[in-house]
Order: sequence, then C-alpha cells, then structure tokens
Amino acid sequence: VLSDDPYGFADAMVSPTARPVSDVLVIGDGLIGLSTALALGRAGVRTVVIGKRRTGAASSAAAGLLVPSIGTLPSAVQSFFAASLAAYPAFLASLADVDPALRLIEGIFERSEDGGDRMHPHDAAVDNVRLLAAVAAAVGATPIIARVEDAVSSVDIGTGSARVITASGARYSAARVILAAGAWAPQLAGLPRPLPVRPLKGQMLALGACPLTHSIMGDDAYLVPRGNETLVGATVEEAGFDTTIDPRAIDALHRAAVALVPALRDAQVTRTWSGIRPATPDMLPVLGPEPLAPTLIYACGHSKNGILLAPATASALADVVQQRPSAHDLTPFRADRWEPI
Ligand SMILES: Cc1cc2nc3c(=O)[nH]c(=O)nc-3n(C[C@H](O)[C@H](O)[C@H](O)COP(=O)(O)OP(=O)(O)OC[C@H]3O[C@@H](n4cnc5c(N)ncnc54)[C@H](O)[C@@H]3O)c2cc1C
Repeated sequence: VLSDDPYGFADAMVSPTARPVSDVLVIGDGLIGLSTALALGRAGVRTVVIGKRRTGAASSAAAGLLVPSIGTLPSAVQSFFAASLAAYPAFLASLADVDPALRLIEGIFERSEDGGDRMHPHDAAVDNVRLLAAVAAAVGATPIIARVEDAVSSVDIGTGSARVITASGARYSAARVILAAGAWAPQLAGLPRPLPVRPLKGQMLALGACPLTHSIMGDDAYLVPRGNETLVGATVEEAGFDTTIDPRAIDALHRAAVALVPALRDAQVTRTWSGIRPATPDMLPVLGPEPLAPTLIYACGHSKNGILLAPATASALADVVQQRPSAHDLTPFRADRWEPI
C-alpha cells in the first residue's frame, strides 16, 4: 500500500475493464445507502452507489417517525439512537441547498390504554419521501460520487479489495463494499455469512385532512401530519416480499385513526401503499465491518428505525471507512452477534 493510499485503493484497481474507479462501492440506493455515500463523498472518499429500485423499498414507504424514546431499546444501543436523532437538525441543514424547506415536526404524543397519555417533546417526524429526494439530489451534486442503476447479483470479498458483479454483467471493484440493500441484502451471492435480515411488510394509508400539529402514537395505529394529509400506519406482517394492499387491514388502520382523533371521521382515504422493512431478529441493524472480511461493511437490517438511524449510520460508517476514531460504538450491531460464543 502506498503512503498516499491509506485505504488500499491501489489494490482495488484490478481490471482495466472495471467501471467507475472508486474507494467505496455502496450496494443499495435507499436512505441508508445514499446517506452513507453522501457522508463519504463529503469526506472526500470516491464512492459509487449501485442501486436498482425494488417494489416495496422501505425508505419511501415509511412514516418518517423519529422515536427513540418510545418502546424499549436495550441500554447498549440507546446512545446510538439518541445520537442519530440529535444529528437530524445538522443533517437537514446540510441538505438546505437542495431542499431548504425540509424540517422536523417535533413532539410525539403517546396515547396508550395501559400507559395513559404522554408527550415525548424531543421525538419528531420528518418527511422521509422528501428527505430521500433531497439526499439523492445532494449525492447527484457531489462530483466524487457516481450512481449506477443496476442490481448487484454477487460479491467477491478479498482481503485488500472487493468486487461486485451486477445483473447486467458489469464488474466493479473497490477497497471497500458497503452492503445497504435493505431487505434484499441477504440475497446477494458470495456473502461470507447468512444474514438474518428478513422482509417485514407494512401497509399504510393517508387521509385527506390534517388537523394535527404533531404526531400521535396509539396502540393500534400512529398518525403523522404530512402537508394536507395525515399518514396512518402501519401493519406489521410476516408476508415475505408481498406488497399487495389488503382493504381489511387498511380499514382497521382507518378505524384506529378515527378512534385516536375523532376529528378525522369525515376525512377520505387519499392513498394507500405498502413497504418492506429490513427486519432482524432483535430489530436492530447490522452495522460495521464483517468480522471475517473487513473489506465488506454492513449497513442493513434497520428494521423499523432506518429513517431515524440514517444520520448516525452514515457518520459511523464514514468513520469506519476512513479508519477514524468514532463517537459511535458499533459493537451491539455486529453481524456475528447471533452466533453461539
Ligand atoms: C410502512 C413502513 C413504515 C416505516 N416507518 C418508519 C418510521 O416511522 N421511522 C423509521 O425510522 N423507519 C420506518 N420504517 C423503516 C425504514 O423505512 C427502513 O428501516 C429504512 O428505510 C431502511 O432503509 P434502507 O436504505 O436500508 O432500505 P430500502 O429503503 O429498502 O433501500 C434498499 C435499496 O436497495 C435496493 N436494492 C436491493 N437489492 C439490491 C441489489 N441487489 N442491487 C442494487 N440495489 C438493490 C432497493 O431497490 C432499495 O432501493 C418504516 C418502514 C415501513 C415499510
């Protein structure tokens, strides 16, 4: 490795026919892949994002809730979740050039049969569809990030470099590969271990009225104000990669929404959709270098919290790639945490 080549990039230039030469290949163009690529590009790391849109991709299907304080998180991961929420204002400010109107809607009101009513003033919501578009635009405006529209079919992880092959037969190589393919991540051939990431379907709807100033979390549904609409989510279903809409599930969510906020009684259903969460057995992401082959870096399995965790994931993985000391401890997110000790 040359002294001006701290990432072993020279090793990665294996073939004169390899397409855009880069330090890092990011597989997957959802919010996690694009945010990580943006953090790398802004740090001066040459990055190629290879992504092919799949039906049900989660980042545009999500509700955009940023709720680290609702539910029970293991204590070992609380600081990572809190840090990601805390990073949001700066993350949105860094996108102001491409979308100056992106902002957080602060405060989540929790209404539970068991726990009564409680305000979480620091939790928030963001328009994830707009955020994804803004991050994509910022990536497009960063000259050292290239985007390729293709599906990666296999990876070949070496010690100093890694190669990927796409469905169209193109080959790319780089010093590091980041796997950010959401629920589809385990499908790649050549991974050093089976990844316990599975599809977890969620259906949602929008109502054509918005009486809310902040989001509401109930036992059977949550409500998120979004422009002239109120988003209502979400089912949690073990249904593989099925994305069909079930009118009965939509009806149940609709009734739960009206029970939470009776002022929504006359609002019409304007849209329905579904998405596929990348779920893991503990509902926590897989983040950081593959223990057996650190040229492969995981950024997948964000389960129900990938919108919340995008800023911390991006900054933690940019630290890993640049071999910088990091404020984030990725130990709880290791890929081998399910294996017997
Ligand atoms: C209904 C619903 C509601 C949700 N609500 C929230 C919420 O309120 N708050 C929150 O924080 N999170 C929420 N989530 C979870 C969140 O959406 C996900 O955790 C997050 O979007 C995961 O991002 P990702 O980039 O890993 O995956 P995705 O957004 O699924 O992106 C993966 C990308 O990789 C591409 N890809 C797949 N395979 C390949 C391949 N072989 N080659 C190239 N590209 C490939 C896909 O097409 C896709 O574009 C919700 C999810 C759903 C479905």
